[in-house]
Amino acid sequence: MAKVDLQQRDRRGEWLPDPLPAPSPLFSWPLRLLPALRAVAGDYWPYGWLFVALAVVSWLWFTPDLSRTGTFALGWIAEIYARNLVLMVVLYGGGHLRLYVQRAQDLRYKFSNRWPSADNRTFLFRNQTRDNMFWTLVSGGLIWTGYEALTLWLYANGVLPLVTLAQHPVYFVLLMLAVPWMRTLHFYWAHRLTHWKPLYKHAHYLHHKNVNPGPWSGLSMHPIEHLLYFSGVLLHWIIPSHPLHAIFHLLHAGIAPIPGHIGFFKVEVGKERAIQNGGYFHYLHHKYFDCNYGGEGVPLDKWFGSFFDGSASSEAEMTARRQRLRAKRGAAAGSG
Ligand SMILES: [Zn+2]
Ligand SMILES: [Zn+2]
Repeated sequence: MAKVDLQQRDRRGEWLPDPLPAPSPLFSWPLRLLPALRAVAGDYWPYGWLFVALAVVSWLWFTPDLSRTGTFALGWIAEIYARNLVLMVVLYGGGHLRLYVQRAQDLRYKFSNRWPSADNRTFLFRNQTRDNMFWTLVSGGLIWTGYEALTLWLYANGVLPLVTLAQHPVYFVLLMLAVPWMRTLHFYWAHRLTHWKPLYKHAHYLHHKNVNPGPWSGLSMHPIEHLLYFSGVLLHWIIPSHPLHAIFHLLHAGIAPIPGHIGFFKVEVGKERAIQNGGYFHYLHHKYFDCNYGGEGVPLDKWFGSFFDGSASSEAEMTARRQRLRAKRGAAAGSG
C-alpha cells in the first residue's frame, strides 16, 4: 500500500484522491435514475445508519425521561452532557488515537504529508490536538447539551407538538431520513454566514487555525460558531417532531465532522480493506478558505461558484474567480 501512496502524491506532497469530489448523481440532469438511487441509498447505507442507531440507543437508554425534564435541574442536564462527552471521546478520540497517535496506516491516503502541529503558538496550550479537544469537549459539548436540554424541556412542558411513531409511522420515518438533508442545507448557510468578515474575525477564525486538520478539528469552534452550528435543531421546534428527531439532528451535527476532518482519503480496516471517506472536499476548504462551503454531495457550491475539486482545471477556475472578485472590489473602491 505504501507504493500506491507514493504514486498518488503531487509535487507538493499532497494526496490526490481518485475519484475527485463531485456532486451526487441525484442532481445531474438529465437524471440517471439508477446512479441517483444508488447515491441516495449510499447516504444511508452502510454508514448513515450508524448515526441513526446511535441516536436510537441514546434516546432509549441514555436520555432522561420527559417526566424529569419539565423542570431545569443540574442532574439530568449533566447526564446528557456526560453521554455526549462519552460519544465525542470515543469517536473523535478513537479516530485520533488510531490514525494520529498509533499512526496505524502512517501517511497512506493522508491528504497532507505533514502531521498536526505539536508546538505552535497559534493554538491553545501550543498544541493543535489539545486546543481542538478543549473547544470540542467544553464549548461544543456544552452548547450541544444546552440545545438538547432546552428542546427536552419544551417537549416535557407541552410547548412543542410531539409526533409519535405509533400515530404517524410514515411521517416519523421520512422525517428521520430527512434530518441529514436538513443538516446539509443548514450547514451550508450557517457556514457561509461565518465567512462574513465580522463573524469570521470574531468566531470562525478559530476553526480555520486548522489548516492541516485532524479528527478533533471537526468540532473545534468558537462558542458563537457552536451556537450557529447546532441551531439547525431549532427546525424541530417548528416542524412537528419527536424528541428522537431532535436528538438525532444534534448527534449528527456532533459527530458528522469527523470524516470531513480526519485528513485521510481512506481509513484502512485490517490488511485488505479500506473505507473511503469524503473528507477531501472539506480538506480543500481548510486549505484555501474561499471554496467548498458545503458538502460535496449537494451542488450548492457549484450553483454559487465556489466549487473546487482540487484538479488543475478547477484551480484555474478558482484563480480566475478570485481575480474577477479582486477587480470588482478594486473598481468599487475606485468609485467610492
Ligand atoms: Zn472544517
Ligand atoms: Zn470555513
